[in-house]
Amino acid sequence: MKTPAAPALAILLAASPLLSAPDPSWLDHDRDRPQPAVVDPGTFSSQEQPGRPPSDATVLFNGSDISQWASMDGSPTKWVVKDGVFQCVPGSGYARTLESFGDCQLHVEWASPTPPHGNSQGRGNSGVFFGFDRYECQVLDSFENRTYADGSAAAIYGQYPPLVNVTRPPGQWQTYDILWTAPRFDANGKLVSKARETVFHNGVLVQNNVELTGPTSWLERAPYKAHPERLPIALQDHGNPVRFRNIWVRELATYRHKEFMLPDSVLDGYVGDYPRGGRDVIHVARAADGLLTFNFGGADFVMHAESPTRFYALTTDVQGEFTDKDGKKELRVTVGD
Ligand code: MG
Repeated sequence: MKTPAAPALAILLAASPLLSAPDPSWLDHDRDRPQPAVVDPGTFSSQEQPGRPPSDATVLFNGSDISQWASMDGSPTKWVVKDGVFQCVPGSGYARTLESFGDCQLHVEWASPTPPHGNSQGRGNSGVFFGFDRYECQVLDSFENRTYADGSAAAIYGQYPPLVNVTRPPGQWQTYDILWTAPRFDANGKLVSKARETVFHNGVLVQNNVELTGPTSWLERAPYKAHPERLPIALQDHGNPVRFRNIWVRELATYRHKEFMLPDSVLDGYVGDYPRGGRDVIHVARAADGLLTFNFGGADFVMHAESPTRFYALTTDVQGEFTDKDGKKELRVTVGD
């Protein structure tokens, strides 16, 4: 039997992504409670062969297809696919996903160059970033390569060294299984809850739900600055040809739509004024983090991309779709549908 949630507790649970408690809507052992979705768990990887991702994962790299990756400005990535692996091309910049992700489970496999070159931070350096370019879990050849502890493999860079160093020799495949909880900001940009991260390196727990102090950076404790909850995941170009394979992600929060960070060129193409059924004009402008603002009826709406042409507001029921008519862009906005 379903019983109504205590309103105060329900609000508290909705407001705090970090607070975990049994859902008070259900009785103990309630037979009417929905069953968990059935998911094929896939298989583990071996050195010779990548495993199969769980059936509900979003596969980001499967050995050949890099259509889900881009340069940071959204143009095609210059990283290459070679022998089934996605490889950093030094000097080409970070590679990021086109899709944006909030709270998630991420699986990444990586291998340092062999024979190894350089030492300390110069050996097999890359990184797994959440929040576009803000929060780095270090990728480094930390096998018999001394560096500062909070910059070694699986460190939350500059903040938390890994609990242990389980790095395999260069050339061997290594896994990161990361649980990411995005920071939350209120409508005024005030920090509501900090980011949290749990990391298993080669199956061994090395970061236990640590709370990030802010964006990771070199020689600096940068403060949090408001950003969208969902943003692309990025892999770092730190000048070393680090290889990646078998990358997949499972988003853990419930979101209404998928979200993408579109290429700058596409977003720039939407900027301008569009008529709104003879009533007024919709002013479209760029905003930070790949977002657009629609201004009409005396209000500003921050719009997130659901596809290359469809946008939606997070907090109000406003949607917009761009179409091309005889080479001219048109925008249809719906409110409250
Ligand atoms: Mg790095």
